Amino acid sequence: MTAFWTEADYDDHELVQLVRDAKSGLTAIIALHSTHLGPGAGGTRFWHYAEPGDAMRDALRLSRGMSYKNAMAGLPMGGGKAVILADADKTKTPEMLAAFADAVDALGGQYVTAEDVGISEADMAAVAERTQYVSGLPVDGEDAAGGDPGPFTALGIFHGIKAAVKHKLGKDSMEGVHVAIQGTGSVGGGVARLLAKEGAKLTLADIHEDRCEALAKEIGADTVASDAVMSVACDVFSPNALGAILDDEGLARLDCKIVAGGANNQLKRPEHGPMLAKRGILYAPDYVINAGGIISVTLEYLCRNKGAPCDINEVRKRIALIPGRLEQIWQESDTSGNSPDQVADKMAQELIGR
Ligand code: NAD
Repeated sequence: MTAFWTEADYDDHELVQLVRDAKSGLTAIIALHSTHLGPGAGGTRFWHYAEPGDAMRDALRLSRGMSYKNAMAGLPMGGGKAVILADADKTKTPEMLAAFADAVDALGGQYVTAEDVGISEADMAAVAERTQYVSGLPVDGEDAAGGDPGPFTALGIFHGIKAAVKHKLGKDSMEGVHVAIQGTGSVGGGVARLLAKEGAKLTLADIHEDRCEALAKEIGADTVASDAVMSVACDVFSPNALGAILDDEGLARLDCKIVAGGANNQLKRPEHGPMLAKRGILYAPDYVINAGGIISVTLEYLCRNKGAPCDINEVRKRIALIPGRLEQIWQESDTSGNSPDQVADKMAQELIGR
């Protein structure tokens, strides 16, 4: 058997911990990729995986992505991620969350957690009853930063899509620009609402068809079946569901000029970035464009540790830097001939000392 730490996804993680609590039925993995720039920060995913190996791969890839994301966002945090392996019914109990919180606490602040897919603000509030190493907690008032990172992630993606449209299509306005959005949950739904306000033509798809139809009606968008959205002829394809959708088959289906969305780990394998570029499709590296949420939860965490309220304008100011970072990557890509994901990976690796 090959040692799993020699596999590419392992990428010299500093720590990978398997957490088992027989009493509550918790099985979780906490992966810490790098603490070079600070404690490993990244959310907890609650998901049913067909195979335990899929959960390990997800934790490792997401955790490395967080190292890159935090570094590129200029945050004093390293990269980490947790996955809780749910059963097929996605049973989640207070006891499981408590056991998970204790495991986070035992790491003494090396890992700071927050929400990810399948984990709510209320879940994080429950985790916070047993550990201080948590963020994305409910906040009071509209001017306080923090809470659910989804809207902040959506805001960064909205800015990033506008930058991509300017770079690739030379347009300053979203009026009539056609964006096909895969996944209309917390992030994709937020992106859709912001784009609708600026006159974009939207096509939405989600496996939760009723919710997707309701949103489409509210903002005046079209819908397509979730298995058809990648083939929609459009200006921008915005993936906001799950990762690894840009594989051989996915790439062959695309009929767009830009891929820019919030899903983590969109490229199935490293070669899919250059393949996108060869097709003349501009790619916004996922961990750069989707950093809005981690910017919010990190500033919330750092402010709470200082006992000070966190100013939402500071969060917005930092999120507004995302388009500039993307533009820098695209310009470097145009000059060097390397694809945007290769350029971004190199920048991130230099920042984390790899
Ligand atoms: P969410 O669970 O609120 O929404 C995801 C949506 O995608 C759901 O509505 C789901 O039904 C839909 N979906 C799942 N599979 C689909 C498919 N095959 N086709 C179409 N729709 C599908 O999650 P979210 O918080 O909006 O996160 C979306 C993505 O963005 C995830 O990859 C997440 O890791 C990433 N992300 C989220 C944040 C954040 O702040 N929430 C930050 C960075 C990255």
